[in-house]
Amino acid sequence: MSTPPERRVRAVLALGSNLGERSDTLASAVADLTRTDAVRLVRASPVVQTRAVGGPADQPDYLNMVIEVETVLEPLALLRHCQAVEQLHHRVREVRWGPRTLDVDIVAYADMALDTAELTLPHPRAAERAFVLQPWAWMDPQATLGGARVSDLAARAADRGGLALFEPTERRT
Ligand code: ATP
Ligand code: CA
Ligand code: CA
Repeated sequence: MSTPPERRVRAVLALGSNLGERSDTLASAVADLTRTDAVRLVRASPVVQTRAVGGPADQPDYLNMVIEVETVLEPLALLRHCQAVEQLHHRVREVRWGPRTLDVDIVAYADMALDTAELTLPHPRAAERAFVLQPWAWMDPQATLGGARVSDLAARAADRGGLALFEPTERRT
């Protein structure tokens, strides 16, 4: 039996990859995240290519995107679900902000504010990250975060110069 719509909550997830077949990884991660009826895909942003911010120098560029989902999972269960999908893609956690095959963060969960050791909502660094804000604004021009319009936050983000729409044709055969 399907879940009544009133028990479903909208959440925004941010995906990033800067190792391996980045574009394929993002596409299969979206499929993996939304394969269960508990997490349904509402819409997906375009993929952007961004210079790595923070962490070790000389990391490969990231591909980033965001998706909006409708879920019956509680926030912590959704985090665990995201982490399980990271593990499916053989994520190895080494250095903080270091390269990884797949990173999945919960950017926002309805308009819930939460601050625990394991989970902070909205994501504490999302409001200053063009690689989250810009694809989000393209996906949903009306979106807001902490009372501000996401497109305005994207226009102000310090790292916006390092971001471009990803052209799959850049892949050489
Ligand atoms: P950043 O959080 O700056 O994007 P990161 O994604 O590289 O860095 P991780 O090593 O993937 O950091 O995650 C560290 C911890 O952050 C996770 O184990 C998780 O418990 C915690 N965390 C807190 N809030 C969130 C959130 N909103 N989404 C995902 N993880 C979160
Ligand atoms: Ca992250
Ligand atoms: Ca993360």
